[in-house]
Amino acid sequence: MSSGDTKLTNALAHLGRNPAISGRAVNLPIYQSSTMLFDTLAEFEQAREERYEPGVLYYGRYGNPASFELEAMMARLEGGDGCISLSSGLTAVTVAIMAAAKAGSHVLVADNVYGPTRMFCDNVLTRYGVEIGYFDPMIGGGLTALMRDNTSAVVFEAPGSGTFEVPDVPAIAQAAHAQGALSILDATWATPVFCQPLSLGVDVVVHSGSKYISGHADAMIGFIVCKSAHYDEMRKMALAFGDRAGANDIFLALRGLRTLEMRMRHHHESGMKIATWLAEQPSVSRILHPAFADCTGHNFWQRDFRGAGGLFSVVMQPVGAGQLRAFIDGLTMFSVGLSWGGFESLALPVNPSPMRTATEWSSEGPLVRFNIGHEDPDSLIEDLAQAFRHLA
Ligand SMILES: *Cc1c(COP(=O)(O)O)cnc(C)c1O
Repeated sequence: MSSGDTKLTNALAHLGRNPAISGRAVNLPIYQSSTMLFDTLAEFEQAREERYEPGVLYYGRYGNPASFELEAMMARLEGGDGCISLSSGLTAVTVAIMAAAKAGSHVLVADNVYGPTRMFCDNVLTRYGVEIGYFDPMIGGGLTALMRDNTSAVVFEAPGSGTFEVPDVPAIAQAAHAQGALSILDATWATPVFCQPLSLGVDVVVHSGSKYISGHADAMIGFIVCKSAHYDEMRKMALAFGDRAGANDIFLALRGLRTLEMRMRHHHESGMKIATWLAEQPSVSRILHPAFADCTGHNFWQRDFRGAGGLFSVVMQPVGAGQLRAFIDGLTMFSVGLSWGGFESLALPVNPSPMRTATEWSSEGPLVRFNIGHEDPDSLIEDLAQAFRHLA
């Protein structure tokens, strides 16, 4: 990981603070709001007129001073013009796609995307006359051959959060752009600390803020970040669904951002140490981690990213289901659980094969995904070593 970006470090401490709201307190309050009051009908009418603009106080669903501060901060961190905070990462993904797609259009989706993103496309969008096509995440500029006149959006992840292929982000964004389709990138793994996809040509970046951004496994929040050209359509779609981030989650996301860079640095270092140790274990076949030279798309990671999180997968040597279970259950410092990006370490067997349609996923043994938290890495290694004995 390269040395810290001082501009970003300082921005994380100083953005998202507004004394006009917080008074003498450092932090913004948990801003509970529904009704906003106006002294005159004329003031109300003006707010109604401008209600889609960021910062306009109209009604709680349209945002409040704390949500606007957080959104402005996220937009700045990503190098975007606008951000919309939503009730979850999945809502950020689905609202962004809905804003681009329409009946009779075609949406291209990377074959390795987050499962629920795929389920939304297959189970919901298709009911409204949107055709879905899947593509090899490593297709790069070859995406042009799959683009059609009616392709409205290209949805992908960098890297895929189960198998960790790193796509050629600028090439895919460029191929989408050339045909007038919106490129939507889920950048949850990288966070703005490690990658700024808008600068790579992506139109719309989405995040699950439930992961690294809030960082403590206690918030559900999502973000859509984009340049001004797409802000209006994204915001209007979010409001059409009536979705918004809750006041408490906004507070937790803002607080998480304060330590995001140092946490990411720790995730990177601890993750590398443990992945490097894992690579040498006889029960392990290979490591799926973008910073490893043999990871698919490692060269794109080197070019476009400044670091790696603590989330990666391990391909185990062939092993019986019972033994794998004994290994997972034998871990005492890693728990089994969904989500990731918190301070606590997690281990989860994942099986990408049944989800894929454009590419085939096969591996010599089962896949285990690790979230490396903030525990002492040597203690985590000791724990893994004792659990591996279940496989011997
Ligand atoms: C978790 C996750 C989401 C969904 O986020 P939620 O906040 O859990 O709704 C979307 N994309 C990726 C890559 C994720 O890991």
